[in-house]
Amino acid sequence: MKKHFDSVVIGSGVAGMGVASSLAAAGKKVAIIEEDLWGGTCPNRGCDPKKVLLSAVEARDKAIQLQNKGLHTVPEIDWPELMAFKESFTRPVPEQSKDSLQSSDVETFYGSASFTPRQTVQVNEDELEADQFIIATGARPSFLDIEGKEHFLTSNDFLSLPEMPETITLVGGGYIAFEFAAIASAAGAEVHLIQHNDRPLKAFDKELVQLLMEQLKARGVHFHLNTEITKITADEKGFTLSDDSDFRLHSDLVFCTTGRIPNTETLHLENVGVESDKKGILVNEFLQTSNSSIFALGDVLSKSQPKLTPVSSFEANYLVSYLTGKNSQPISYPSIPTMVFSAPKLAQVGVTAETAENNPSKYESSTIDATNWFSYSRSNEPVSTIKVVTDKQTGLLVGAACLNNEADELINYFSRMIDQKMSAEELTEKVFAYPTIASDLSYFYS
Ligand code: FAD
Repeated sequence: MKKHFDSVVIGSGVAGMGVASSLAAAGKKVAIIEEDLWGGTCPNRGCDPKKVLLSAVEARDKAIQLQNKGLHTVPEIDWPELMAFKESFTRPVPEQSKDSLQSSDVETFYGSASFTPRQTVQVNEDELEADQFIIATGARPSFLDIEGKEHFLTSNDFLSLPEMPETITLVGGGYIAFEFAAIASAAGAEVHLIQHNDRPLKAFDKELVQLLMEQLKARGVHFHLNTEITKITADEKGFTLSDDSDFRLHSDLVFCTTGRIPNTETLHLENVGVESDKKGILVNEFLQTSNSSIFALGDVLSKSQPKLTPVSSFEANYLVSYLTGKNSQPISYPSIPTMVFSAPKLAQVGVTAETAENNPSKYESSTIDATNWFSYSRSNEPVSTIKVVTDKQTGLLVGAACLNNEADELINYFSRMIDQKMSAEELTEKVFAYPTIASDLSYFYS
């Protein structure tokens, strides 16, 4: 059946849901199409379930750090129970997301959407016409194209593993691999992480990545760097990974954590002249594709910004303000913090120490060992290293990176300081609750 809307949104993740409900609230007639779980990756099989699992790791780590300092038993992670707790968060998400869209007067369609040569979208028997189409189809796990690739599991499988096996192997050293390594090793698994070169987490500060790897090694995680897996074979006890030389590793389960690929293939973008590359859909600074009636946002984009939930939300807010005529300016991103929720946590924002070192006339960078600072020593954290980069001319903070258990909170303060161009003097005029990580902020300028 043919139906007409002001806007048709494809994909119901953070990006699509944000745009659809806000456009409907602005009085537009909106439809949204989803082919899998309503709510998309983040709340179903991404950030949120992962951080629920991490809660147990954080609690256990705190207890380990305080052994013989007031505590005497190390809690054990009961994986099936933790998984059930995780599911109490994820199970309601699809229905709640769909209900929320419908109660915002967004018409929902379930099925795989694709463009027709008539510049309409086909979903099952329905053909949807619209003044604007908005593509928010996100990304999915990629697979290394090697012999035995059918044995790979993905991040989706890890986040719903019924039992934690004795051995797991993660192939690919991005942030998801480091996070899963921390979770699985705390849950009792022997963890192997394989990286094809010597630079896992390549977007993060090299020195802090080394420190993080040392911490994970101390917890029993095995790193195999410069190892290019070419084959996986199954046997009755699990899987054997091998390279073209003499590397052999046996594992109960093998996860491919080599990154994510944009969901573009089934959209038939060629029918409507929307250009893309292997990183995703190409857009201009108004999130408009090469077809002026079609916009795109979120993880499906080919972009230099990191593919993260708050970035998708930011783009959704921008696109709504642009499409409703409230903002005619190009999109301008604030500083974007990036995280590795491992153990400890690693975070980064703004100008990196590496850039600072390559531009000594412009930037000054310093590395602070904060392990003995009260905020970290009171819970006996094994490591707390913080790097700050200041602009030599203005003296303002322009970048920061940190490795400690509080990095996920600390990095947000640094981001705000950078965006608000907060000087050392302005910081001393503020009163922060003491003792907290925020009350340490002024020390980073001295
Ligand atoms: P998605 O949420 O992926 O939504 C796209 C939707 O489109 C999907 O539901 C899909 O089914 C649907 N779709 C695709 N094609 C079609 C089609 N043809 N027709 C209809 N529907 C279609 N980010 C963070 O900020 N912090 C984190 O800690 C973090 N952790 C993560 C951990 C994991 C394991 C993973 C996988 C991701 C994590 N991310 C994290 C990234 C974050 O989840 C994504 O950046 C975010 O979900 C992207 O939102 P989106 O709306 O662009 O895409």
